[in-house]
Amino acid sequence: MHNISFLLLLLPSIVWASIPIKHDPIPGGIAVVNFETNHHNPKAFYRTLPLYVQNIKDEHWQVLIGIPLMEKSGKKSITIKDFANRAFVFEVKEHKYQEQHITLKGKNTKYVNPNPSHMTRIKKERYILARPKMVFSDKVLSDGAFSPPVEGFMTSPFGVRRFYNGQERRQHTGLDYAGDIGAIVKAPANSRVLLTGNYFFNGNTIFLDHGQGLISVYIHLDKILVKQNQLLNKGEVIGTIGKTGRATNPHLHWGIYLNRTAVNPNLLLGSKS
Ligand SMILES: [Zn+2]
Repeated sequence: MHNISFLLLLLPSIVWASIPIKHDPIPGGIAVVNFETNHHNPKAFYRTLPLYVQNIKDEHWQVLIGIPLMEKSGKKSITIKDFANRAFVFEVKEHKYQEQHITLKGKNTKYVNPNPSHMTRIKKERYILARPKMVFSDKVLSDGAFSPPVEGFMTSPFGVRRFYNGQERRQHTGLDYAGDIGAIVKAPANSRVLLTGNYFFNGNTIFLDHGQGLISVYIHLDKILVKQNQLLNKGEVIGTIGKTGRATNPHLHWGIYLNRTAVNPNLLLGSKS
């Protein structure tokens, strides 16, 4: 009798470790909503969009909400579904990101004003590249904090407003790490390979699924060393740094999507961020 209750007490520790995330409710940040329930599998939604839910310990749970870079400040409401529907409110705060000016010359100017034949390819790829960000698989694969995918130093932070030859383009939706061509890129957490391919702007690209709408992407790779649907352990080599696509120097662009929203990858690195 005594032994059985001891085993039952151990059971919650077998569950995957949660990702330690600091509440950072700015555009491009992650809002953390804590709640308690005895339900074994609570769900959460922003409007109809499913959200990442993780168990912290026993009846303590968290919802992680990726906040779009274009989001206006103010109160937002999510719905938590356990034995009933409950509304939880969090507040998005304003944040100003820096500007970065990039000059592209010679053959690289095709990436500023692509010609009509490139436009056909770009439009097709825009559709293909939107899909992996929308994947929501119920099973969580990641286990605890993420590790940086490369050892290089960061050359461009998340969220900067980018100007190519003076023309404003999208804000930077990931982190850039400098590195030599051929330097290895590792899976930052347990995952499944969602998609690999070569694309006009991104060059050689890998998408990884970490579960519950948490997706990571690796862009401008030289080599892709994984196959679609392959299961990966944290730290496994997935490819090498390159300068394919719209890249002036060899570097890795690392992006993280949560509920279809680009968020700052630093937020997943635990205390090292
Ligand atoms: Zn980048």
